[in-house]
Amino acid sequence: MPELPEVEITCQGISPFVVGQTVKEIIIRERQLRWPIPIALKRSLKNKIIIKLNRRAKYLLFYTGNGCMIIHLGMSGSLRIVKDVEPPERHDHVDIIFKSGHTLRYRDPRKFGSILWTKHDPMKHMLLSHLGPEPLTHEFQADYLYVLSRKRTKPIKNFIMDSRIVVGIGNIYANEALYHAGIRPTQKAGKISKIRYKRLIVEIKNVLSHAIKKGGTTIRDFINGEGKPGYFKNELQVYDKAGHPCNSCKTAITIIRLGQRSTFYCANCQT
Ligand SMILES: [Zn+2]
Repeated sequence: MPELPEVEITCQGISPFVVGQTVKEIIIRERQLRWPIPIALKRSLKNKIIIKLNRRAKYLLFYTGNGCMIIHLGMSGSLRIVKDVEPPERHDHVDIIFKSGHTLRYRDPRKFGSILWTKHDPMKHMLLSHLGPEPLTHEFQADYLYVLSRKRTKPIKNFIMDSRIVVGIGNIYANEALYHAGIRPTQKAGKISKIRYKRLIVEIKNVLSHAIKKGGTTIRDFINGEGKPGYFKNELQVYDKAGHPCNSCKTAITIIRLGQRSTFYCANCQT
């Protein structure tokens, strides 16, 4: 599943081909994604210039003068830039063709992604309005997590994966950050000290910015903006490493289910 680093890399990768460009045509081959692509999209986007492209959580926001297209990649979606002569393949559901001759192509084999349109401020859209702070901003710091977590009995891993608390920490990066911070994923959020939250904040920011720098984690379906797979996968410490020796103490990595998600930790290093 594309996580925050992959979406950020997609944003950076496609931006030079999209921002300042005029939409010539939109081809929709499959309308039924997680929600149907709105009928108004074609009419609203045609002949419009994309004036700004931003990421908020895992949403990509394409601003025009009269509204904003919101794209979420879901479980298996990807966006890439192709020359408009390149024929579409089976799961290439949408093409946004620019007058420049480049096409932004949306592929989504499992069709859990979404492409929406709003005439209003996208930050007030029902999908975005409740979201917590971005993890790589100054707003996301130890005091914030510490105060919010008091009296919470939820496991820390589920707590940091809750987008109302902080956005964009998916399963892979939650596992990795908790390993680096030495915190066991099952630990109750309300029982963790401020000092440990300080460490956790640092590790979350490290693991995400490192992944962005490295081009995102290729687990299954991600193709980055320029069509090359990322390679952060080789550097994962615990995710998908059940039974492998911990890189620090050689204890075999434990796997459990937590909140229906595979959860990996070192029972010696993480307490
Ligand atoms: Zn260990």
